[in-house]
Amino acid sequence: MRLIPVYSISVSLLTLTFFAAQISAKEYFVESEQAYNEIASNLVAGDKVVLKNGTWKDFEILLKGQGKKEAPIVLTAENKGQVVLTGQSNLRLAGKYLVASGLVFKNGYTPSSAVIEFRRNKKELAFHSRVTEMVIDNYNNPDKQESDYWVGMYGQYNRLDHNHIVGKRNKGVTVAVRLNSEQSQQNHHKIDHNYFGYRPTFGSNGGETLRIGTSHYSLSNSYTMVENNYFEQTNGEVEIISVKSGKNTLRGNVFYEARGTLTLRHGNGNIIEENIFIGNGVEHTGGIRVINKHQVIRNNYLEGLTGYRFGSGFTVMNGVPNSPINRYHQVENAIIENNTMINVSHIQLAAGSDDERSAVPINSVMKNNLIVNDNQQQPFTAFDDVSGIKLSGNIANTDVIPELKYGVEKNNVSLTRLKNGLMYPTSSNIKAGAKRDLAIIDKNKTGVSWYPKTPAIIAFDSGKKHSVDANPKALLSAIDKARSGDILELSSGQYDVPKLIKIDKTLTLTAKEKGKVKLTFERSTLFELHDGGSLKLEGLTISGESSPDSTGNSVVRTKKWGMVDNYRFVMTHSKLLDLNINHSFHFFVTGKGAFADEITLSNNAFENVTGDILRLNSEIEDLGIYNAEYVTLESNTFNNIEGGIVKLYRGGSDESTFGPHLSMTHNTLNNVGLGKRNKANASLYVHGVQVTSIKNNRFVQSAPIVVEHTVGEPKTTITNNTFDVENALSITELRVSGPHTADVNNNKVLAK
Ligand code: CA
Repeated sequence: MRLIPVYSISVSLLTLTFFAAQISAKEYFVESEQAYNEIASNLVAGDKVVLKNGTWKDFEILLKGQGKKEAPIVLTAENKGQVVLTGQSNLRLAGKYLVASGLVFKNGYTPSSAVIEFRRNKKELAFHSRVTEMVIDNYNNPDKQESDYWVGMYGQYNRLDHNHIVGKRNKGVTVAVRLNSEQSQQNHHKIDHNYFGYRPTFGSNGGETLRIGTSHYSLSNSYTMVENNYFEQTNGEVEIISVKSGKNTLRGNVFYEARGTLTLRHGNGNIIEENIFIGNGVEHTGGIRVINKHQVIRNNYLEGLTGYRFGSGFTVMNGVPNSPINRYHQVENAIIENNTMINVSHIQLAAGSDDERSAVPINSVMKNNLIVNDNQQQPFTAFDDVSGIKLSGNIANTDVIPELKYGVEKNNVSLTRLKNGLMYPTSSNIKAGAKRDLAIIDKNKTGVSWYPKTPAIIAFDSGKKHSVDANPKALLSAIDKARSGDILELSSGQYDVPKLIKIDKTLTLTAKEKGKVKLTFERSTLFELHDGGSLKLEGLTISGESSPDSTGNSVVRTKKWGMVDNYRFVMTHSKLLDLNINHSFHFFVTGKGAFADEITLSNNAFENVTGDILRLNSEIEDLGIYNAEYVTLESNTFNNIEGGIVKLYRGGSDESTFGPHLSMTHNTLNNVGLGKRNKANASLYVHGVQVTSIKNNRFVQSAPIVVEHTVGEPKTTITNNTFDVENALSITELRVSGPHTADVNNNKVLAK
């Protein structure tokens, strides 16, 4: 161990002056965990601990002591960004006036409940402390359903600023402000200038990026300031931010292509102002959702948001009369003024109105808002009596629904994009909308300058093309050597693959000449997707003729359990033949815990399959978890398939997910789903799917389509299909009474 007190090295005059003021302050240059632990319990105000550059494994850091305002206790890196904490490392702060900075957490996960925690334990919390210029990058528990926070804020007057936080994939809020003891309430924390990068769709509740409080303590005030942060593609779930306490201010934050909303879920008297939401038309991008009392929402700018229902661009909810603390409190005294909403598809008032949520918004105002939709569609829906929201001075470029007309002037406002990147009325006579000098925080001013804000997803075909000779050894070697995004172009010929091919990068396999490349395989599957893997197949012929003579083979599968990265699978212009050497030979099988952002099959032909084509039904415990977000089948033919084309299952009653989505267009099915082992007795089986679109398909001699609706007001459209029998559809509502809500029309039944 090497301890270097300040006085033993050459010191500048400045340091000397400082040293004179702080008699005992030292600077420690620490090279090992043991060295750290030897000094850690004796740190005093003004001490500075510098960790040596390099990789530190399994290092649980406790920064503890009583610093002073003018002489904090500091922990930092020799060079910011060059101290990397891996394995089971974490950081806890306890005491006061502590500052930690410059560390990178990656290649591991926390062994405790948070990566960085403003407390040592329930009793020893941090106050007046700061965590700044830290990186937490994909530091995920490998068990995706194992919950942790990346930052847990406790105590009071703490600051979390200029951190780079990206890629949380396991369960749990990214940053949680806890109010679970009096010492953590009225906390006056500040969360500012952080870069919150990509958070993939989690696939159930528990994917919020920031939560302030919990329902249990939600009537306590928090006084947390959330300012000038950048939220980019923080898509975890329907709530990007869940405010669950009172008297917080959220100001000047940017939400860029972020699915979900800033939700005022619990707690009263919050101020939401000058935030910028830019959706760019991305599906499920939302804005602000209002619940509870005395909320102020002003001068926010929302543009290009497509979200609907609880994920709308703007939502005011209905409450539950005498609501229990964890349900929905009535909206009362909301002030919604001077917001700009441009191309916001949905503004929903009294949303969620039902037998339970029957308390309509009261004593509220909505004034001087500017609403412009280029498509001339008015965005409002009123789900109940909205007379408790008084409208005045609002301007929209379309007529609005009759009950709001008195307070919304129709005016075909012309807009100009100003230097700040935002649109404003060309005429300064128009006072509705957000203020003109709204600042939009530069992404580069958030997070740290020394760590790149790289694109979240490596696109297919974004790398180099490599030619592969027609033998399995060449193929395996090429896959091994390829880099993420590369394209492997397979020479014509037959590849008899003796090994299971693990895919742990983004890869395209394409035939040099379509139809001239044939793959057979000798293991129970050909491709297995691992963390980091995404696969695109193009123009290949794949046959099951050499597969083992046993049940349950597949062509593609994910790891059997426990994937933490979402994946993509795309296959086009390929032929799948003779997956029938034994029973239950499936094309694609998901493991438990695996989640696809996308599965797309287009222009393929499947023939003679004894199992299912897409088997996406491994989450059967009804916990609101599912296996794929977007499943798309377009212009494929399916002949003699004993199982179903798709089995997509999303159980449970939770309402925090957007998907799954299924789109099936222009496919032809012939003799599908009639195998005796196909227990679903369906050519297509979807359960709890949120958006289903089945259009222009042809079903011949096939089992029925089975659609089971559960919660979340699922949208199902089944139109322009051709069937050869009556009763080809079975649609049921499992959670609500009454007729099913699917849109079924223009389907034809042809005589055999
Ligand atoms: Ca949630």
